[in-house]
Amino acid sequence: MRVAIVGAGPAGLACALELERLGIRPAIYERHHRVGSPVERAEVLLELTWRPVKDQLAYLEQRCRLRLLPLARLQKIVMHSPGRRVAVSGRLGYIVHRGRAPASLECQLASRLRSPISFETPADPLELSQEFDRVVVATGDGDVASRLELWQEPEQVAVKGAVVLGDFDPRAASMWLDTRYAGHGFGHLVPLGRERASLHLCVGGIGLKQLDDYWNMFLEAEGLDRYPVVEAFEMIFHCGRPSRRQVKNLLLTGTAGGFVDNFLGEGVFASIVSGVLAARAIARGLDYESLVQPLVRRLDQCRALRRLLERLDDRGLERLLGLLNLPGLKQLIYRSGLNLFALWQAAGKRLALAAPQAPQPSHQEEQEGQAELMD
Ligand SMILES: Cc1cc2nc3c(=O)[nH]c(=O)nc-3n(C[C@H](O)[C@H](O)[C@H](O)COP(=O)(O)OP(=O)(O)OC[C@H]3O[C@@H](n4cnc5c(N)ncnc54)[C@H](O)[C@@H]3O)c2cc1C
Repeated sequence: MRVAIVGAGPAGLACALELERLGIRPAIYERHHRVGSPVERAEVLLELTWRPVKDQLAYLEQRCRLRLLPLARLQKIVMHSPGRRVAVSGRLGYIVHRGRAPASLECQLASRLRSPISFETPADPLELSQEFDRVVVATGDGDVASRLELWQEPEQVAVKGAVVLGDFDPRAASMWLDTRYAGHGFGHLVPLGRERASLHLCVGGIGLKQLDDYWNMFLEAEGLDRYPVVEAFEMIFHCGRPSRRQVKNLLLTGTAGGFVDNFLGEGVFASIVSGVLAARAIARGLDYESLVQPLVRRLDQCRALRRLLERLDDRGLERLLGLLNLPGLKQLIYRSGLNLFALWQAAGKRLALAAPQAPQPSHQEEQEGQAELMD
């Protein structure tokens, strides 16, 4: 079978490795001259996002045969709203590296690949679909889904990011919620090490032209302008929901398939799993759309939570953080393994904000979903 993969990010590379394991050598196209985004960044894999998967890296190793090393364990998160600061600590997840250094996720994945990657080769998945039996779309953007008119809930977020210098705790991340400069998005700082960190601001509903004003307000309001900036980037990030993820012989994975939560912008884990599932669907003749349903259901829960957050003004955000700071609730959220998303929906109700409910899978469905994910 002739399989093409367009995009050598986490989704495309995970797909390629699984295809190789299953006896198929894909043709891989990457528009850049090497793997990894030009500006490095640190990203987080939060333990609470994919429960009952407790440890996302252990899961990828056991279920997807992908051993990936993090930069560090995430042991502390400090959340800020205009009038409140809440710190949580414990085994909160991982900090992973993205970019072109050997420690980046992309480079770790690419180093195990046997198939060659065609670098500096921007490819059009729709054109390739005439030529190949299957085409895996792993482009990290919404272009193919737009052209196929698949976006059910299109959503784009303007992102500005920078590598900054300072003195950081390599295991602690910070997050800021403030509608003045982030709307219903957020700012966050994730350390790349002791002396460097990634600083990001994600704002929905604005264009890149307005982003600088928001960024400057963010830096000034939070005193972050004290950190010298080494390099910076701006981009539009797609985190919408497509109606389908397979159209004829095209399989959409990673960001291109909407495998990112639009609540905190987390997409690494779902992107890698979607790539692996696309490979299994192709090699074993399985239905990709069914295989990814457990991922889609969780992402839909994230969307419901996001809709709740959009109803909050700064006072509401402050009250929400206050709730999260209650010792009993804190314990429940971070140490119990509970599905946080259901819990936060309940917190929204306490705040008397009627939130649209995402369809909740039954226990049996959840179990089946896990089984499919783990196959
Ligand atoms: C600033 C920022 C912070 C983030 N923070 C987090 C976080 O903390 N935790 C988390 O889980 N997720 C985070 N994410 C999301 C995460 O980065 C994505 O979910 C993940 O990168 C998706 O992987 P992907 O393989 O789908 O796409 P990408 O990583 O974008 O890779 C796509 C690849 O395809 C290539 N390509 C594109 N078009 C073509 C073409 N036509 N032909 C050939 N090659 C092409 C690109 O050059 C690129 O190499 C963040 C995203 C951003 C932007």
